[in-house]
Amino acid sequence: MPRLYDAHQHFHFDPLTPHRARIAADLAHVGLQRAVVNGTNEEEWPIIEALAADYRWILPSYGVHPWDCGNRSANWLATLRSRLANEPHAAIGEIGLDRWVIDGIKPDDPRIAGLHIASLHEQGEVFTEQLELAAEFNRAASIHCVQAWGKLLEILKATSRPACGFLLHGYSGPAEMIKNFTDLGAYYSFNLQLLEARHAERLNNFHHIPAHRLLVETDAPAKPPAPGSNRFPLPAAPDGSAINHPANIAVAYAALAEIRGVPLETLAVQIEQNFRHLFR
Ligand SMILES: [Zn+2]
Repeated sequence: MPRLYDAHQHFHFDPLTPHRARIAADLAHVGLQRAVVNGTNEEEWPIIEALAADYRWILPSYGVHPWDCGNRSANWLATLRSRLANEPHAAIGEIGLDRWVIDGIKPDDPRIAGLHIASLHEQGEVFTEQLELAAEFNRAASIHCVQAWGKLLEILKATSRPACGFLLHGYSGPAEMIKNFTDLGAYYSFNLQLLEARHAERLNNFHHIPAHRLLVETDAPAKPPAPGSNRFPLPAAPDGSAINHPANIAVAYAALAEIRGVPLETLAVQIEQNFRHLFR
């Protein structure tokens, strides 16, 4: 059985809470070794730390997400710094830039209820501070970017970056920027949402990304895999939305192996190496 690594998910998010025992059993069954569990704001950080003590496969990652950065506390950076100093294996994320949440999302979308949405300028400042921290501690940074690829490249070039590299999670940027990001230390994670017909262009990128920079993720419990690729359905959330089960990582590996035209075993060995290089 191949050894699997999930480069980006959120095991601590509410929709997964009632199913934790079943999920942990399924993850052991599919051969999951480690999963990077990303905190998106200060309240989530201690929850992830506690979960990581219970579930040995969790690699904790702490950050302030661009959607949450307008709600950060006055002490957020000092809290993050001391957390990294105390937890030598923790990574940084998820952090980044999101223009869509500023001018694309519907104002009554329940996902932004109670959030003060920061300007792209403010998001950039918070992102830069966290990238500098990642560089100082040499910890992998997991980056979320929506409709802000030019600004992302600008900041990455102008800021010190972690020597171990950084992850552009669920990469959805332009094909022609891959070389720029790769030269700066980028890794790219594939997920099953990219199999949706409307993402054909993004999916095509995963034919070209260098093998030594590839990773695989679920982003669970966010959006479930494209229709036909959800092998681990969970009961719908109370609001009726579908939940992505973290064990779909096995389906994602199989899909990426097919896309790259390599045996699953070969891909799994490569991803294991890449994961270890980045997340150490
Ligand atoms: Zn995420």
